[in-house]
Amino acid sequence: MTEQPYPDPKFVEKEKKRLLEEKAIIEEELANLRAAMLEEVDVEPDEGDAGIFEREKTATLISVLEHKLSNIQAALRAIEKGVYGICERCGKPIEKERLEVKPDATLCLQCQKEVEAMNRRGRPGAARW
Ligand SMILES: [Zn+2]
Repeated sequence: MTEQPYPDPKFVEKEKKRLLEEKAIIEEELANLRAAMLEEVDVEPDEGDAGIFEREKTATLISVLEHKLSNIQAALRAIEKGVYGICERCGKPIEKERLEVKPDATLCLQCQKEVEAMNRRGRPGAARW
């Protein structure tokens, strides 16, 4: 085993704080959105289309936030395990600049590009978000 190329602890600590703050914000937003979904269950017939449109928008937003939340949770787990900042796909360190922009990144830039290219090609079942 070679030495793990690991971001310095101070940097990780800073990222962890940011992740926890973001997680709290997203969880609150999700709770609000879910409450709104429940309230909107009885759609008045005359506002039918608009109501359905609103619900679809809310549902989309919820799934986007849920995805983001699961990324953040994965990043926090990675911090706990001491593998934060390591690309899940190729095992190389993720660019620090990238982590600063996207603290929940689990892939390095190269892998991210490759995965996105694969999703664009429309692999069945791959692009669920
Ligand atoms: Zn990679």
